[in-house]
Amino acid sequence: MKIHEYQAKEILRRYGVPTPQGVPCFTVDEAVKAAQSLGGKAWVVKAQIHAGGRGKGGGVKLAKTIDEVRQFAGQILGMQLVTHQTGAQGQQVRRLLVEEGANIAKELYVGMVVDRGTQRVCLMASSEGGMDIEEVAAQTPEKIHKVFIDPAAGLQDPEADDVARKIGIPESSIPQARAVLQGLHRAFWETDASLAEINPLILTGDGRLIALDAKVNFDDNALYRHPDLEAMHDLDEEDPAEVEAAKSDLNYIQLDGTIGCLVNGAGLAMATMDTIKLYGASPANFLDVGGGATTEKVTEAFKIMLRNPKLQAILVNIFGGIMQCDVIAEGIVAAAREVRLSVPLVVRMKGTNEDLGKKILADSGLPIIAADNMADAAQRVVAASKGKN
Ligand code: ADP
Ligand code: MG
Repeated sequence: MKIHEYQAKEILRRYGVPTPQGVPCFTVDEAVKAAQSLGGKAWVVKAQIHAGGRGKGGGVKLAKTIDEVRQFAGQILGMQLVTHQTGAQGQQVRRLLVEEGANIAKELYVGMVVDRGTQRVCLMASSEGGMDIEEVAAQTPEKIHKVFIDPAAGLQDPEADDVARKIGIPESSIPQARAVLQGLHRAFWETDASLAEINPLILTGDGRLIALDAKVNFDDNALYRHPDLEAMHDLDEEDPAEVEAAKSDLNYIQLDGTIGCLVNGAGLAMATMDTIKLYGASPANFLDVGGGATTEKVTEAFKIMLRNPKLQAILVNIFGGIMQCDVIAEGIVAAAREVRLSVPLVVRMKGTNEDLGKKILADSGLPIIAADNMADAAQRVVAASKGKN
């Protein structure tokens, strides 16, 4: 799960990481009031979307007067912000963060991710923070320093101090850097984060360290332990089809191809998508209906797939292990009737009660294309999607 910058900063503050003062806003008037209440001589108006690269896309603006705050808030709110992380269609801005303008002497980078290789949290830090960090990682990876943190000991003082010195933090600011890095690590650990990043972490003219941007992603599998974090979830930022699917406990990811896939088991779903690709088309979605798919769940899955305007055919690929083929066949027939299926449907099923399942499909009178194996199913669905059936 992702959250907004202002929410990530709220979390970091709880762990002692200094941030600028700021106020989340939903309207231009709120933005103006926020700037007035913050006071000072400069404010930054920042688009809140679940994607980075906002600065380069025109979603972060420095205002020198209250009038400029009003003007920028008006420009940014409602804009379709395109960044290197949103894709070409961009993301609509519905929230802003108005915060005090900081006095930046140097922009640094610090981030943490789970490193699968070492099975540790990896702290990454660089003196070259700011909006070009991807470039730094690609061109000069030696400028990114890494610490693999011992899970039992946590981030030790000497480790934190050493990395802080490597990224050019002056001696007088080392104790602060230690607090920031250890605070970030505790925040990462205690919230079950999968990523936590401060870019830029700035050094101000008077030697203070401040997190000017913050990004935290959480491990969805651990969210049940954090109802307070789950409450931060902004569904406007998610794909509506995925939100709908999650309500029915379906594992669904929207993709940009034309062939809808309904499969039981994540591994089989991946293999099904690969096979579709092999025969020259692309999947419209990943969908794992799980082991206990009921008629209701299958119907919901069909409805979600059919809402996609790009959809040209559906492939159902079921292995009847725990799930019996006749049960799933009944679900498919009921669902196809209820949603008045408008695209070709290819079904491949194997396993328990396979013959019974196939008979139910054949007797239904629905124009279902039966397939015997995965290659056959994929070829048929690709052909059907191109109107060749
Ligand atoms: P993104 O990473 O999405 O582009 P950031 O929050 O990092 O967004 O903002 C982009 C840049 O804008 C920063 O690198 C920094 O130079 C500047 N900036 C952001 N917040 C402030 C602030 N409060 N005061 C001054 N400059 C800021
Ligand atoms: Mg940033």
